[in-house]
Amino acid sequence: MTQRTDVVVVGGGQSGLAAGYHLRRLGVEHVILDAQAAPGGAWQHTWDSLRLFSPAPYSSLPGRLMPPQPGEPYPDAGHVVSYLADYEKRYGLPVHRGVWVSAVHRDGAFLRVETDGGDWQTRAVVSATGTWTRPFLPAVPGRRNFTGRQLHTVQYRSPAEFAGQRVIVVGGGNSGAQIATDLAGTAELTWVTQRPPRYLADDIDGRALFDAATARRRALDDGRSDSGGVASLGDIVAVPPVRAARDAGLLHAKPMFTRLTATGVEWADGARAEADAVIWCTGFRPALAPFAALRLRGTRGHIAADGTRAVDEPRLHLLGYGDWTGPASATLIGVGRPARDAARDIASLLR
Ligand code: FAD
Repeated sequence: MTQRTDVVVVGGGQSGLAAGYHLRRLGVEHVILDAQAAPGGAWQHTWDSLRLFSPAPYSSLPGRLMPPQPGEPYPDAGHVVSYLADYEKRYGLPVHRGVWVSAVHRDGAFLRVETDGGDWQTRAVVSATGTWTRPFLPAVPGRRNFTGRQLHTVQYRSPAEFAGQRVIVVGGGNSGAQIATDLAGTAELTWVTQRPPRYLADDIDGRALFDAATARRRALDDGRSDSGGVASLGDIVAVPPVRAARDAGLLHAKPMFTRLTATGVEWADGARAEADAVIWCTGFRPALAPFAALRLRGTRGHIAADGTRAVDEPRLHLLGYGDWTGPASATLIGVGRPARDAARDIASLLR
């Protein structure tokens, strides 16, 4: 059976909810289809010690400030999940859970959204699928030969399961630094980064990142030179635990190794380290597989976009993946504005 609605939002994490908020305000009929059984998007699956890199009010979706978490200046992931669950309830957002969108096709004046619960015929689609379901692992020689455990950021939960083990953490971004910090006192840690770690100044948190991303977007829009945005400030937010581990001398980064062996890793100069586990904190790619049938142009796994609108398919908007879909759009505070712009654009398309 095919159901009909004006807009299908694919993904019910923070980006999908922000889209729903603005579509609702504009009176646009829509549904939000989300694969997961419960609210919270990727925040349901992060490691136990993760804390936001901004205080609660600076981690808010449009319309409703995130309440502070008692005793935690930087809230944990569980607090974000509760906030998102409350948000969708408060605004009565039409989220359909446990629905996997497998493909989106052109169907004359409509788009057809195929799901494991039947098809939807719609006039516009917002892709808000995030990146968490598409972990990226680099092609390093010998990766298949390593007989120890290999996992990605998405599978890491807590240091307890690595107690006393030799663990190699790969990655010089926030996930790598935070997971290395988490493990430093419990495991025999080797931290490996492609270039020396670049910490942001200690007093910089998510607020400054949002400002930097916004200033960069404005500069580019005005034809001024590229300020470099967040990347120009550094790679690692010195959240309190990372700062403490760094200052205690627990975080020494080695350069990237050249290959994995059966029992560990080897560097270009022949030095080796044995390991029980390698944790790849090597990032993500946008989860855009459902849109493959639309055959849209793009580089590096992206779809070419003008703002949030797909250049080659004006009925498709992309929300929340990173600066290429709006400044800081992959953050709680940053997704609101592109969500508003996408909703307005869709509302005028439907008129
Ligand atoms: P997600 O939260 O991943 O939600 C996407 C939803 O879509 C999921 O529920 C998924 O199951 C669903 N989905 C995907 N594909 C399909 C499909 N085909 N059919 C149906 N459903 C589908 N941001 C901050 O603001 N502050 C921070 O401190 C911060 N820390 C971060 C720390 C880490 C380690 C990471 C990885 C990110 C952090 N972020 C932070 C960034 C950002 O807030 C998150 O990545 C956020 O989860 C992105 O939200 P989203 O809604 O775009 O994607």
